[in-house]
Amino acid sequence: MDVVRTPAAGWIEVIVGSMFSGKSEELIRRLRRAQIARQRVQIFKPAVDTRFADDHIVSHSELRIPSDSAATAAELLAKVRTDTEVIGIDEGQFFDAELPVAATVLAGRGMRVIVAGLDQDYLGKPFEPMPQLLAIAEYITKTRAICMVCGNPANHTQRLVGNRARVLLGASGTYEARCRRCFDPTLAETEEQKQKDAAARASAEGAGTERR
Ligand SMILES: [Zn+2]
Repeated sequence: MDVVRTPAAGWIEVIVGSMFSGKSEELIRRLRRAQIARQRVQIFKPAVDTRFADDHIVSHSELRIPSDSAATAAELLAKVRTDTEVIGIDEGQFFDAELPVAATVLAGRGMRVIVAGLDQDYLGKPFEPMPQLLAIAEYITKTRAICMVCGNPANHTQRLVGNRARVLLGASGTYEARCRRCFDPTLAETEEQKQKDAAARASAEGAGTERR
């Protein structure tokens, strides 16, 4: 009997969670397994993320794997080779709103597309385009960190510094993993106000000195 296989269908896998939950480690683990099986793998990270190395994905625990960078989802799509079987994308939240479309196109070509990223920003709000990717993915993995205050499972990224930009790169000292109870979305705003008050006091004191 002849067994006729239809061409493999592609699919989308999404790995989401807070910072320090092991998303990049999990992405690297899956990509390594594919490489061991001699599948053709391409790995991308957003051009904005240059924290550790320009041409590698690096987890906080120093696992690393060579990667290409792309500034936009369109650039990523253009860089994918036709014979690629598995595509890994790290820090998906730093890509534009076209990333779900690009992932759909690649899965439609029969590729396995794995995207890792933050599902929430520092305010606890859904971090686009990850929610859109979660909606269209075949497989979803949610990684949890451990709350650095109380030790419970942590689903939030707590920003510790007074800066309200949505994208603020940083690791230890800038962010902490926190559980629902210990997470304080107003902390960045409070810290920013404290800095402004301190600066205002300093300039008032400076002005007082000049008058003397
Ligand atoms: Zn906690």
